[in-house]
Amino acid sequence: MGAVAPTYLSFDDTDSLDGMCTTFLATLMVEEFLDADLIGFPRLVRLNPNVPWKTRGNAAICLAFGRGRGRRFQVGEVNGERIYSFPDGKRTDSDAIFLRAKAMVQKHAHLSCENTNPGVVVSERRPSPRIYWRAVREIIPLSLAEGAVDAVGGTIGKFKNGRGVIGSAASMAWMPRDRTFEVIAYRPQDRIGKPREVDFASVDEVDSQYPSTFHNLDRESRHLAIAPASPCPVLFGIRGDSPEDLIRAREKVISEDPDRWLLFLTNQATDDHLLKRQISTLQPRQGVRITGTVSRRAHDIPGGHVFFELSDGSEKVICAVYEPSGKMRNAARALREGDGVEIFGSVREKPFEVNVEKMNILDCPMFRIKTENPKCPICGKHMKSAGSGTGFRCRRCGEKAPAESAVFAELESPPAGWHEPPVCSRRHLYKPASRFDIKRRPLREIIYSVQRMDSGSIVDR
Ligand code: ATP
Repeated sequence: MGAVAPTYLSFDDTDSLDGMCTTFLATLMVEEFLDADLIGFPRLVRLNPNVPWKTRGNAAICLAFGRGRGRRFQVGEVNGERIYSFPDGKRTDSDAIFLRAKAMVQKHAHLSCENTNPGVVVSERRPSPRIYWRAVREIIPLSLAEGAVDAVGGTIGKFKNGRGVIGSAASMAWMPRDRTFEVIAYRPQDRIGKPREVDFASVDEVDSQYPSTFHNLDRESRHLAIAPASPCPVLFGIRGDSPEDLIRAREKVISEDPDRWLLFLTNQATDDHLLKRQISTLQPRQGVRITGTVSRRAHDIPGGHVFFELSDGSEKVICAVYEPSGKMRNAARALREGDGVEIFGSVREKPFEVNVEKMNILDCPMFRIKTENPKCPICGKHMKSAGSGTGFRCRRCGEKAPAESAVFAELESPPAGWHEPPVCSRRHLYKPASRFDIKRRPLREIIYSVQRMDSGSIVDR
């Protein structure tokens, strides 16, 4: 670390439901710090999606600045100017970064919104990754985040109650186990709030042409998942595993002219928010993975929501599959008592239940139920049970028959395997089944490949 570590800058909680977006502030910061070199990919880090005070997707940003080393590569464009980053870099004047970043937050954050409480952190060392893992899976107090930053000698800037320090500290602490990328294109100021013009067919083509991208659209409902519905500055964001494909895919989307774009390294689509737990240890607002057997079959309630009960042997919990889950509800309805299932979801406080994000129906045994007692071969009447496990007996004739001679119906097994909601109902951290077997390329290799895409403008340091 030490000698070649850059200066890290992170910030969070700058927007409101009326506009702004912390990722957009990232582009403004990059513009502000054009006199320093950007190091590595800008990072967009999603935290616990069950935090009640989040504005939208609980996102925080971490950038690194310094004196760049190695060959630069393009990570964006702002006002017609290409934005480059370097693979490594030596730290720069951290105090100056802090003061300028704080002034930027003061200028751009929606401070008049009650729920906007920005935080800024600048540090030459990353806080312990533990703070990331807790912030992505639990609710944590501000003091814990502040302690993690203090422990590495970082500087903290708080506005109002300063809650944004939690996201800032956690995003700086993120050391990816799994990771993806997102290229986000932004609208010019005069377009913000107007209907977005993004061509569905061109996104459909991008989706087919670049299989490394995901969560682009929902063909059935013709919903464009790349474009948000809120009045924020984002025009569209394409998510995927290959930044090279994202750079190309961005150019293929037919849309109104974006004003700027930036490529982020993210923890989206990683399921980082989910931790394997026993039912007895579940806490509200946690992301969880639990395995058990169905202890009560599903029932529907008005509104199309489906509920069933899961047991892990010692405890039971209600699992909820809400209406936006689409066809995943049919899989839940098909579950029979005793079927094995793995649930990925979030714990809701009131009522206490697990909201199912996706589920894996394990191989289920064929079940059968008795539909009719055997008939007496002499009088033709239905025989009666002669006692548990002892077969049947005709009350009139005294004729006996084995238990197996009853008439049985086989219950159809629910479809084993993964069941997922439609793309438009998935959270940012939701890992699609299509990513389960993805092989992670080393970041060095990715950077090398992105560097080679832009051979016309080599700056080697
Ligand atoms: P956007 O995605 O548009 O940037 P947002 O959905 O990220 O908005 P914020 O306005 O950033 O929402 O609000 C989230 C707040 O929750 C921030 O103050 C952040 O620091 C805080 N926070 C994030 N994770 C946790 C957590 N695990 N425990 C407690 N607070 C958290």
